[in-house]
Amino acid sequence: SSELLAGAGAWPVTLLQQVDSTNAESQRQLATGAKPPFLIIAEQQTAGRGRRGRSWVSPFGENLYYSLVLRITGGMRQIEGLSLVVGLALLHAIRDAGVNDVGLKWPNDLLVNGRKVAGILLELSGDPADVCHVVIGVGVNINMRNVPGDVIDQPWTSIRQVLGEQVDRNRFVDRLNLQLQRYLDSHGRNGFAALRSEWEANHLWQGRAVSLAAGVQSVEGRVLGVDDTGALRLDVDGVEHVFSGGELSLRLR
Ligand code: ATP
Repeated sequence: SSELLAGAGAWPVTLLQQVDSTNAESQRQLATGAKPPFLIIAEQQTAGRGRRGRSWVSPFGENLYYSLVLRITGGMRQIEGLSLVVGLALLHAIRDAGVNDVGLKWPNDLLVNGRKVAGILLELSGDPADVCHVVIGVGVNINMRNVPGDVIDQPWTSIRQVLGEQVDRNRFVDRLNLQLQRYLDSHGRNGFAALRSEWEANHLWQGRAVSLAAGVQSVEGRVLGVDDTGALRLDVDGVEHVFSGGELSLRLR
């Protein structure tokens, strides 16, 4: 089927043919009083977003553009490591679809053979110590085949390109919902610390020499892993340094 269905998951779903961005739509719904949890899925985004104002290429009918909106009641512990936990859930959903060699790149990219297959964009609103909402935006390249020219300025792939066959997006949404329920539940109960070793075991760049960029500044080191909050641990000239924050970008050296 080429049409997404508003499937019978645990969260109420709004399915849109076209939207600027499922995260932006989620924020509007929150602002007009919608009560989480809820899910927004669109067939197309006209202004799909990545981190730092970058755009997410979102053609009609081929991929998944998905935002899950949750209310955060457990304070900072429920937020620390959350985007990495979403990465783990997405990793398993993609594996369940038959892509065995998918892996993670800190903080939350999903790569197959060095090519980006999915992205995650978390947006928090409110005060984590009080009432707070998180919009968990997920874009997954499911059946995308042709993107004109240099529209995506880094190597990408889709599940279809890896498997060589059309993929049922509704089944993928069901798998993703299940994996997210499982991992969000674990994270909510035990925090990121309990998932840390599983995350590191799936980190493609564990032990690798990298440079970590924050805007124009960068630091070179070797990846040691992550800490209990999901921050990146780097060996920089024999000394362990810890880095966190949404503006950081990792490259192989
Ligand atoms: P990096 O990991 O390279 O620092 P990032 O995490 O900042 O990137 P995101 O914000 O997650 O990247 O995603 C935006 C970037 O992803 C875009 O600048 C583009 O290079 C790439 N991109 C955009 N659309 C897609 C897509 N559909 N599939 C794969 N990659 C895409």
